[in-house]
Amino acid sequence: MTKKKTQYLSEEHAEELDDICENCRKKDETVSQNLILTGFKFCESCRISRTFFPI
Ligand SMILES: [Zn+2]
Repeated sequence: MTKKKTQYLSEEHAEELDDICENCRKKDETVSQNLILTGFKFCESCRISRTFFPI
């Protein structure tokens, strides 16, 4: 049971690193970088328009 749960979690994690921007759905290598840096799964252009949003 524990083994299965771990596998499920790692699959879910791999899915997060597909480099697809959650905002515009484009595949870009900056998406994973921005996910690490900002916590948002955005490409570079979406990041620029969202990062300094005051909320
Ligand atoms: Zn984008």
